[in-house]
Amino acid sequence: MTRAEGLLSSVFGFGAFRPGQAEIVDAVAKGRNTLAIMPTGGGKSLCYQLPALLRDGVTVVISPLIALMRDQVRALRAAGVEAGALTSGNSEDETEEVFRSLDEGRLKLLYMAPERLASGGTLTLLRRIGIGLIAVDEAHCVSQWGHDFRPDYLRIGALRRALDVPLAAFTATADEETRVEIVSRLFEGASPDVFLHGFDRPNIHLAFDVKDQPRRQILTFAAARRGQSGIVYCATRAKTETLAAALRDEGHAACHYHGGMEADDRREVEARFQQDDGLIVVATVAFGMGIDKPDIRWVAHADLPKSIEAYYQEIGRAGRDGAPAETLTLFGADDIRLRRAQVDEGLAPGERKAADHARLNALLGLAEATSCRRQRLLAYFGEAAEPCGACDLCDAPPDVFDGTEAVRKALSAILRTGESFGAGHLIDILIGHATDKIRARNHDGLPTFGVGGDLPKAQWQAIFRQMMGHNLIRPDPDRHGAFRMTEAARPILRGEATVTLRRDTIRKAAGRPAVKM
Ligand code: ADP
Ligand code: ZN
Repeated sequence: MTRAEGLLSSVFGFGAFRPGQAEIVDAVAKGRNTLAIMPTGGGKSLCYQLPALLRDGVTVVISPLIALMRDQVRALRAAGVEAGALTSGNSEDETEEVFRSLDEGRLKLLYMAPERLASGGTLTLLRRIGIGLIAVDEAHCVSQWGHDFRPDYLRIGALRRALDVPLAAFTATADEETRVEIVSRLFEGASPDVFLHGFDRPNIHLAFDVKDQPRRQILTFAAARRGQSGIVYCATRAKTETLAAALRDEGHAACHYHGGMEADDRREVEARFQQDDGLIVVATVAFGMGIDKPDIRWVAHADLPKSIEAYYQEIGRAGRDGAPAETLTLFGADDIRLRRAQVDEGLAPGERKAADHARLNALLGLAEATSCRRQRLLAYFGEAAEPCGACDLCDAPPDVFDGTEAVRKALSAILRTGESFGAGHLIDILIGHATDKIRARNHDGLPTFGVGGDLPKAQWQAIFRQMMGHNLIRPDPDRHGAFRMTEAARPILRGEATVTLRRDTIRKAAGRPAVKM
C-alpha cells in the first residue's frame, strides 16, 4: 500500500480511488503543476486535500464559495486534519485560531477566498508561513469566457510567481477556450500536466428525438416509466404547469417547479421529490441545483437545453446511484431559433456571445448526430471513447444519406435571395411554389426556383433544421429569422466537403403533422 492509499482509507475513509484520482494525487503530491478537469461530484477536493498531507508546508486553497470552504474545513477537522479558512464570514476567534495554528506550524490546509489576494498583507503572510502548494478550486473563474468570472482570480498567477511553488487547478468546465485561458492565466508558460477524467456516466442512456407531438412524446416516455422518479425540463414556466397537469391527467404523481413560485412552495416540491418514490417534477432549470437524490431514474427535456454543458448537467442528475437511468431530449427548429435568440438578445459582451453560440452549436451537433452520441458528448469534453451501446443511435443506427446536393440547393436559394428570407419562403422557391410573395419579388425567375421539387415541403423543413444543427446556416437576429450562410458552409458550396443527413427524421417530419405544444 502506498502512503497515499494509506491516507485515503485512514483519514478520508474511502476504500479506493475514483477513476482519475490516483494519477492526479500522485502528480500533485510530486509537486507538478497540474490542471485537473473532472465533472461535478467526481471527487476533486480529495485531489488536493490528500497531497496537502503528503507535502511539506501549508497548502493554500483558493475557492470562491465561502459555504463550501467552511464545509470542507469542518469535514477535514472532523477527520483530524488541521485546516482553517480565512474568509469574510469568520468570527474574530476563528481568525485568531487560524493564525495561531499557522504560527505553531500545525496548519496543513489554509482556505482563502480570492478577494484576500487583493490585500498586500496576504502575500507577506503567505511568504512567512511557508506554502508548499497552491490549489485552485473552480479554476474556470479565471476565465472571461466562463460563466462565473471572478476578477480576483487573475491575481493567482502573480501569487504563484511570487511564492514559486507548484499550483494545482481544478474545474468541471471542460471546453477548449476555458481550458486554454486557465493555462495561460494561472500557469503563464509553465505548461501543467492536464488530467481529464470521469465525464462518462455509462449507466445513463442518451436519446434525442425530433419534436413532432411534444406533449404526446413526453407522456409516452413517462408512461413507460410509471412509478419512477423523473424530471421533465421545460423552457418556460407556463409549460411546466400545463405539462404537469397533463401528466396528472394520465394518473402520474406530478408537480411543477419554477423560479416564479413562492419559496415555501418550491421547498415543498423539493422535499416531496426527495422523500417520495415515483414523483415527476416538471421544471425549469431552476430545479436541480440542490437536488441530491440518488435514484432519479429518468430525465426528459421537453425543450432543447441552452448548451451542451447545461444538457450534461441536467441529464447528469439521473442515476447517481449507478443503476440504469434514461434520458430523452426533444428538439425542433423552433428551439434552435429560441436558443439563438436568447444568446443574441442577452446582455453579454460579443466575445461571450460567440462562446455561447459555440456551446449551443455543440449541443445541436449532438442532437443531429448520425453516430454514437456518447462518443460525441465525451469528445466535446476531451475524452476518447468507443461506441457506447447505450444511446439511441447505438441501439438503432440511423438511416443516413449524402445530403450534399440538397444542402447546396438550399444554400443557393439563400444566397440568391440576399440572405433575407426564412425557411418558409426559401422552401417555396425550392419546390417551385409560385406564391404572391414569390411573384412580387420575381423569385420564380431564379435558377433555383423549383430545383427541389423532388422533395415535399416537410422534408425541406427537416433539412433546414439539420442545416441549423450542423451550423451551416443561422437565423439573423436583426432580420426576423432570415437565414444567413455560415463560414462552415463554404467548403460545401465549393464542393470540398459533403454533408451526411438523417433520413429517418426527415421521413418522420413528412409523415406526421407538426403539432405545437
Ligand atoms: P467535486 O468534484 O464536485 O468537488 P467532491 O470533492 O465534493 O466533488 O466529491 C464528491 C463526493 O465524492 C464527496 O461526497 C466525496 O466525499 C466523495 N468521494 C470523493 N472521492 C471518493 C472516493 N475515492 N471514494 C468514495 N467517495 C469519494
Ligand atoms: Zn452510443
